[in-house]
Amino acid sequence: MKKKYQVLALLLVVILLWYSPGISMGVSLEELQQAQEEVEEKINRYKNIIQTTQKEITSVSSEMASLDQRIRAREIEIEALETTIAEKMDLIASLEEDIVMAELGFIDRQKTMQARLRAIYENKDVSFLDVMVDATDMTDFLVRFELLTRLAGGDINMLDDLDAQRKELESMKLSLVADQMALQDTKGELESSQASLSSAKNSKESLQEKLLSEKALAQKALDEEEQSNKEIEKLIKDYIASQANKGVYEGGKFSWPTPGNSRITSQYGWRIHPITKTKSMHTGIDIAAPRNAAIVAVAGGKVIYAAWYGAYGNCTIIDHGGGLTSMYGHQNKLGVKEGEIVLKGDQIGYVGTTGLSTGNHLHFEVRLQGNHTTPWPYLNGEV
Ligand SMILES: [Zn+2]
Repeated sequence: MKKKYQVLALLLVVILLWYSPGISMGVSLEELQQAQEEVEEKINRYKNIIQTTQKEITSVSSEMASLDQRIRAREIEIEALETTIAEKMDLIASLEEDIVMAELGFIDRQKTMQARLRAIYENKDVSFLDVMVDATDMTDFLVRFELLTRLAGGDINMLDDLDAQRKELESMKLSLVADQMALQDTKGELESSQASLSSAKNSKESLQEKLLSEKALAQKALDEEEQSNKEIEKLIKDYIASQANKGVYEGGKFSWPTPGNSRITSQYGWRIHPITKTKSMHTGIDIAAPRNAAIVAVAGGKVIYAAWYGAYGNCTIIDHGGGLTSMYGHQNKLGVKEGEIVLKGDQIGYVGTTGLSTGNHLHFEVRLQGNHTTPWPYLNGEV
């Protein structure tokens, strides 16, 4: 931001100098050019930041989408488990009823048997006591006792069956309870996995917010620098216009700026820019030529600019009089200096690809009173 104020202060100084007659512009132009290079450097830096940040934003977005999918999958698994757990609980409840019924049946049987045993002991006709009293010794007594007891054997077996049935129901219930507990454990694990996925998603969200605000800041800085660049461009353009001869152009048909190289790769007019991919005005024509091929003056005149000129790279501007100038951009090397007088056909530079360019070529531009115009009428001798 400090640099920004330096540039603004410089612009103010330049503007003041501009409107003060008699003060040399030489130093100010150099400063303008330096300021322009600095601004362009910053523009590139901010564009890089924006591009990198946008890539990160895209990748974080897709990570968030995949986390969302996994969270949804966990939800479905948890819901399925809850259904299974509910089914198990229903089964356990119905088993508990069965167990209660079995216990009641057992108690009922037990009572019946006890009643029957009591009936045997208390029967007057077949006196239990008589049978027992007739026993000759202790062994005989035990044999007789067992015989009598066996009369109730059917009931005892039935009681054993009922007890076994009840025990089986109990063990079924225990295994269901164990199943249910295992399912609850699994559900707990799924829930904690889901919670950690959610917290991962939350941290991605805050990262995303941070990246978006970084990108917005870089965009704001870029807009400011581009505005500064436009202001500097205008000051340089005004400087060049102020240098132009006010006489009349009498040069006739232009000579071809790159002798031996005539293939046009981009015409004057609206086009999609090959680097920025945006619709923009192409202010000159592009002529394909090898690196260091000769560039010549299309007509005689005075070199009013021979230096780096932003997107044009190394650039020469020749004033031909009558407000007519020709401009030669992207040069690998300049061949003339500001203030030199050149004749039509003199070599003034070397083809290159400096500035905003995708390969060796000459960007040739014609300006009338500082405004770009199609160069063809001049190249064809129709003016
Ligand atoms: Zn061009």
